[in-house]
Amino acid sequence: MPIRVLDPQVAAKIAAGEVVERPASVVKELVENAIDAGATMISVELQDGGYEMIRVVDNGCGIASSEMALAFQHHATSKINSLEDLQAVRTLGFRGEALYSIAAVAQVKLVSRTAGDLVGAYLEIADGRVLGSGARGSPLGTTVSVRHLFYNVPARRKFLKSAEVEGGRVVILMNQFALAYPEIQFHLISNGRQVFQSTGSGSLSDVLVKVLGLDMAREMIPLDPRVGQETGTLVLSHGAAGPDAFGRRIVVSGCVSQPHVTRANRQYLSFFVNRRWVQSPMLARAVEQAYHTLLPVGRHPIAVLDVAVPPDEVDVNVHPAKAEVKLLREGEVFVAVQRSVRSALTAHATIPAFSGATEQPARLSGAMPMGRLFRVPDVAATPVAGTASEAYRAAEPAEGTMGSRLPPLRILGQMAQTYIVAEAPDGMYLIDQHTAHERVLYDRLMSEHARAAVKSQLLLEPLTIELTPRQQAMLQPRLEAFMQMGFDVSPFGERTYVIRSIPVVLQGGDVIQAVLEAIDLLADEKGAPGNWQEALYITIACHGAVRAGQALSLEEMRLLVTQLEQTEMPRTCPHGRPTLLHISQAQLEREFGRR
Ligand code: ADP
Ligand code: MG
Repeated sequence: MPIRVLDPQVAAKIAAGEVVERPASVVKELVENAIDAGATMISVELQDGGYEMIRVVDNGCGIASSEMALAFQHHATSKINSLEDLQAVRTLGFRGEALYSIAAVAQVKLVSRTAGDLVGAYLEIADGRVLGSGARGSPLGTTVSVRHLFYNVPARRKFLKSAEVEGGRVVILMNQFALAYPEIQFHLISNGRQVFQSTGSGSLSDVLVKVLGLDMAREMIPLDPRVGQETGTLVLSHGAAGPDAFGRRIVVSGCVSQPHVTRANRQYLSFFVNRRWVQSPMLARAVEQAYHTLLPVGRHPIAVLDVAVPPDEVDVNVHPAKAEVKLLREGEVFVAVQRSVRSALTAHATIPAFSGATEQPARLSGAMPMGRLFRVPDVAATPVAGTASEAYRAAEPAEGTMGSRLPPLRILGQMAQTYIVAEAPDGMYLIDQHTAHERVLYDRLMSEHARAAVKSQLLLEPLTIELTPRQQAMLQPRLEAFMQMGFDVSPFGERTYVIRSIPVVLQGGDVIQAVLEAIDLLADEKGAPGNWQEALYITIACHGAVRAGQALSLEEMRLLVTQLEQTEMPRTCPHGRPTLLHISQAQLEREFGRR
């Protein structure tokens, strides 16, 4: 094909692809515009997850009728003037691309009125062409309605998920806006039903109650914005004068969860830089480092955190959807975040009533003179994969023997109501009753799943569970899959669900906690649908398994060990932690000086 310059309409659609990927990206751009316009109330309405219609109403400064058509032109913006302005952006938008891009791939109607105008005006545009315009009565502010998104881009439509999944993304997005702007009142209405709202009271804790629910919001510890960088400098009141009031300061504010409140993944980490929602593995690392040794392996905290830096120290123009930023003093920001989270934790955390994995090994090795023999891995510090301690490695059979199978074990007793003590021809074994049982239950679930026959049990008394808007958005489209996994969960009023049956394996476990964790795992579903189900079975196994601190009879221990022997991988739990430690006959003899 010869080289040609593309037709402007084709070019517009290609450019739009960068900005507008899905309904949630339209909502993001429109809400950002409303915030930039100084709105104190922003309402978002969706039909069919936004495919059919997205409407954003704000009470901001409005657009003058004479500028309406201009707003839709490429690179038309009122927010920056020059290249210098780009170096210190103070608004969420600055590229003048959003309205242009949205109008290239949808039918858009704009109605707006500024304070200076008595009547408002409207403009209708589709495929980049103005279809109509004129005077129109309107309250102060702007309403943008977007219909039939991607109606003219079939290639894009193909890649979109169901309306529920897309609607769920919008819930998450609105949660983030509300967290970053507690002084703005947000509403989200989906198919005529209010699914999220914030009060606009200006208090972050009020928003947290709406986003996380009252119980979880209570477990959040506020960060002290004075901790961070140069703590000696005078601090002016936050917010009033903007980041410049702090000079070159880095100010970290927000809140983090008590160490005993943990989540199965990182989706409860919300980061903002100058109140712009960003994805940042760097900030996630900084927060998690502050929790070092406080959280069990594979568990993550909840955090809502804003980093305020001078605007000229952030490059906001590095990502098509503005979801990432570049920080000039990244290292210092890291330290500031890590320090301020750590200091909040030491000041307020009710440390740690939790009898997590970090505590027990320490007690074990401290109490026993044989600490040197049972080299217990520092589970909190090591990644899940490859946490095999030396002792555990020693327990691995020599090459040529029967793979991961266990030797015949004779149960001697239980220690600390946590470990089963056993002997075998090659020495002594300590079996962790919880991880061992987890392995047993997990294997059972996986084999039942493979036969599409996960055993379910009716609860005598159904349980009810109250979900946050985002949890609801995750769960609702997957009730069917939950059913196949042994959970009968159904809607029961606004945000309440009733659980009528559970996988048999979960009997006696904390059902509510398991379901909540399972829902969190859903957000990790990326591509292959098998992954989250497996992760969910791990969660169920964990909650169904016998806990540490539970006395077991000899009979129960025998049964557990027999079941463990029959599993595929008896030496680790599904999280990768060891189920048993081995001390060989030879090691014992050496330690006692017999050899
Ligand atoms: P950008 O936000 O990057 O400037 P947009 O295409 O999103 O580009 O918007 C173009 C211009 O239209 C903005 O600069 C602003 O002046 C105006 N505008 C858009 N939405 C609103 C709104 N809700 N209220 C007031 N003005 C708006
Ligand atoms: Mg914009």
